[in-house]
Amino acid sequence: MPAETFEFQVEARQLLQMMIHSIYSNKDVFLRELISNSSDALDKLRLETLRDDQLDVDASDLHIAIDADRETRTLTVRDNGIGMTHDEVVELIGTIANSGTAKFVQELREAKDSSASEELIGQFGVGFYSSFMVADEVTLLTRRAGEETGTRWQSDGEGTYTVETVDDAPQGTSVTLRLKPEDTEDKLFDYTSPWKIREIVKRYSDFITWPIRMAAATGEEGAEDPGTETVNSMKALWARSKDSVTAEEYSELYKHISHDWTEPLETIRMQAEGTFEYQALLFLPSHAPQDLFMQDHKRGVQLYVKRVFIMDDCEALMPTYLRFVKGVVDAQDLSLNVSREILQQDRQIEMMRRRLVKKVLSTVKDMRSSDPEKYGTFWKEFGRVLKEGLLQDFENRDAILEICSFASTQDEEGLTTLRSYVERMKEGQEQIFYMTGESRAAMESSPHMEAFRAKGFEVLLLTDPVDEVWVQSVPEFDGKQLQSIAKGEVDLDTDEEKKEVEAEREKQQQEYAGLLTWMTEQLGEHVKEVRLSSRLTVSPACIVSDTHDVTPALENMYRAMGQ
Ligand code: ADP
Ligand code: MG
Repeated sequence: MPAETFEFQVEARQLLQMMIHSIYSNKDVFLRELISNSSDALDKLRLETLRDDQLDVDASDLHIAIDADRETRTLTVRDNGIGMTHDEVVELIGTIANSGTAKFVQELREAKDSSASEELIGQFGVGFYSSFMVADEVTLLTRRAGEETGTRWQSDGEGTYTVETVDDAPQGTSVTLRLKPEDTEDKLFDYTSPWKIREIVKRYSDFITWPIRMAAATGEEGAEDPGTETVNSMKALWARSKDSVTAEEYSELYKHISHDWTEPLETIRMQAEGTFEYQALLFLPSHAPQDLFMQDHKRGVQLYVKRVFIMDDCEALMPTYLRFVKGVVDAQDLSLNVSREILQQDRQIEMMRRRLVKKVLSTVKDMRSSDPEKYGTFWKEFGRVLKEGLLQDFENRDAILEICSFASTQDEEGLTTLRSYVERMKEGQEQIFYMTGESRAAMESSPHMEAFRAKGFEVLLLTDPVDEVWVQSVPEFDGKQLQSIAKGEVDLDTDEEKKEVEAEREKQQQEYAGLLTWMTEQLGEHVKEVRLSSRLTVSPACIVSDTHDVTPALENMYRAMGQ
C-alpha cells in the first residue's frame, strides 16, 4: 500500500510550527520526552501480559535503546513496548486530544516575546512534538504488540505527515530523528555524541525502571562489536533512602509522571511498614493544569505493586478535591492483577488513602507557617479545588478549614485565615461574618457592608462560586458560627445600644407606618415585606433575603442552570 498523506489538525500544526522555530533554550528535554513515552509503552505492555497470559507478545527483554549515527546525523530511540496500530498513530500523533491544549496554543500565539513563549512551553510541555526542536524530519516506526503489520509515520512537521503500512516492523516503537544541521555544529547540541546522550539520560531519566541501553563506550574508535551498556540506574526513587535522592531527581520523576515541565512546588514522602507496607512519593505541582475543572481531568496518582506499574489515575487513592496531587504509591501486598473495582472496596486501600489525605493536608499546613510565599502560590493555584473538600470530606473538614485563605475587609491585598480572623474578633463578637459575591469591589460597595464598616467589624469576602455552596454546609469554625451579612437580621449592637435603637425604631415605625404600608402595596408580589432597617448608614434602601433564602449570586447561578 502506498503511503497516505494526512494533514495535521489545526492546533497540532500550530504547535509544531512553534516547535520548529522554537528558541526554547532547553532543547535537551526532547530526549526525556521520547524516553518517557517509551517507558509508558513498556509499562502498558507488561500490564497487558499480566492481565492476559494468552497474549501473543514478546515480553522477555523489555528495554529502551538509543542509537546515534554521526554519519547520517540521526538519533533513534527504540522500545519493544506496546506499540501503536495504524489508527492509533493517526489519532495520537496527528491530533492533540488534551482539552487544555487549544487554549494553550492560543496563549502561545499571543505571547508577546520569546521569553513569554518559552515560559509557556515550559509550563505546558509538548511531549512527542518536542522532537521538532532538534530534528527537521521525524520517522516513527511502530507495531502494536500482538498485531501482524506495522505502521510507518513520517513528517517534517510542516503541515502534513505520511503514514504507510509495513510488513517487517519489530514489536514496539522506534522514533528516528534527522537532526537539524545547526545542532551538530554546535558542540553543546551534538545529540549524536555518546557523552551528551549519556549525560542527558542520567540527568532526566535515571529513575526510569526499564533499562536504557546504548552502544558501550569502547574508547577505541571503530571497534568491531562495541556491545551495549545500560545508562540509567533504574532505581525507583521511592525505594531509595531519603538522603540519597536529590531534589533534582525528585523533580525529574515528577515531570515524568505529571507530563508537566515545571518544577514541583512540594515533595512529600511517606512510608508505612508492618502488615500493609507501602511507600508513597507525592508532589504538589506549582501550577494548575488547564483542565483542572474539566470533566475528564485525571487524578495524578499512579499505583505500583512491588515496583511494577499497575495504573495511572488511581482514583481509590485520592479524593477528587485533591485531584491535582501527583505521584506514586507503591504497595507491597496487593495482587498484580488488582482492578479498580477491587481497589474501591479494599479496606487497606481505604486506610492508606486516609493517611495520604491527612499527610497532604498537614503538609500544606506546615507550608503555610514555614514558607508563606510557597503557600500563597499553592492557594492561588489550588485553593478553589481544595474548598470542594469542605463539601466532600466531612472527616477532614476542620483540617481543610485550617488551611483555607480568604480575602477580607481587614486587608486590601492579602488574604486571611479563619484562625487569624477569630483572633481579631471584636469583644462580644460571636460570629464570623462573610459575604459572597462576584468581586471584591462589588461587595465593598454593597449596602450590606455599610453597618459592618461603620462599626468596624471584619467581613470575609468570598468570590469563588464554590464558596456559595460550602458556606451553607459548614456551620462553624472554632465554635464560631459563620454568618452571611446579606441574610436575615444581623445583630451588631451592644445591649446598651440596642435599647436606644429599639426605642428609636419604635418611634420611627409609628412615624413611617403609613409609608411602609404604601410601599408594601406598591411593590406587591416583588417583596415579602418592607421594613425599617438599622443596618444602612449611607444608602437609602437595600434588599435583604431571609436567613434561609439563597443569596442573589446563587439565585443567578440556579437561574442560569434553568432551575
Ligand atoms: P503524552 O505522553 O503526554 O500523552 P506525547 O505527545 O508524548 O503525549 O505522546 C502522545 C501519545 O502517543 C502518547 O500518549 C502515546 O499514546 C503515544 N505514543 C508516543 N510514543 C509512544 C511509544 N514509544 N509507544 C507507544 N505509544 C506512544
Ligand atoms: Mg509523552
